[in-house]
Amino acid sequence: MGLLKKFWRRVTKPRCNICGGQKFARGPNDRLSPSGKHPRCKRCHSYERHRVFRQIFLGLGPNRLRTLRCLQFSQDPTVDRRWFHSHELSVFNRSNSLDLQQIDRSDGSYDVIVCNHVLEHVPDYRAALRELSRILSARGFLFLSFPDPFHVACTTDWGYSDPKLHGHYRHFGRDVEDVFRKEMPDCHVVAVTATDAATGTPDLAYVVTRSDDWLRRLSGLKLDARVCAKP
Ligand SMILES: [Zn+2]
Repeated sequence: MGLLKKFWRRVTKPRCNICGGQKFARGPNDRLSPSGKHPRCKRCHSYERHRVFRQIFLGLGPNRLRTLRCLQFSQDPTVDRRWFHSHELSVFNRSNSLDLQQIDRSDGSYDVIVCNHVLEHVPDYRAALRELSRILSARGFLFLSFPDPFHVACTTDWGYSDPKLHGHYRHFGRDVEDVFRKEMPDCHVVAVTATDAATGTPDLAYVVTRSDDWLRRLSGLKLDARVCAKP
C-alpha cells in the first residue's frame, strides 16, 4: 500500500474510543455487527456496547469522577479504573463476589456503580435494583445496561437461568422503566442512547441518580438522553 493511501486510511478509518485501535475483527461465532462490520477491537477486545458506554462516560467527563468511589459489577472495558478515587470490582463467583440481591455494603457507600449486562443473570432483579439504589450515594450515579433494550415492549421472565440463553433469567422489555419507578422511587432515571463509531450500532444505557448536578450533565450531553423516571 502506498504511503499516502496508508495515511488516508489512518485518518478516515474509525477508531476504538477505548484504546485508539483501528483494527476490528469478527465476534464470537463469526458474529458481525448488524451493519455487517467487524465488532471486536483487536487491541482492547471491546465490542459495540463497550464503546457506546465509553462514549457516554466521555461525554459526562472522566475528570469529574476523580473524587468518586466506584463499584463495578463484572469486568468490562467501559470505564478506566484510574478515573476514580477508588475502584472496586465484583466478579460473580470469582473475586470479591457480591450478591446483588443482598449487597454486603453499607448505605450510600459508592458514588458510581457500573452494572452492565448483569441484571439478566440475577434471580430477583427487583431486589437488586433496591439494593443498588441503597448503596448509591447522593452525589453520583448508577450506570445500568442489559441486552436488547430496544426490541420488545414487555419483559419475559422464565424464572431460571437458561443455559441456552447465556444463563439469563429473563429478556428485558421497555416496561422495565415502570419497575425503575417502583423500586427506585427517589431517583431520576435517564435513558441515554449513543452509536458506536466503529460499526454504526446504537445501544442504550440507563443512568440512575439523585443528584441534580448529574441530571444537568446528562441533559447537556450531545447524545439522545430521555428522562424516563422522576422522584
Ligand atoms: Zn480498542
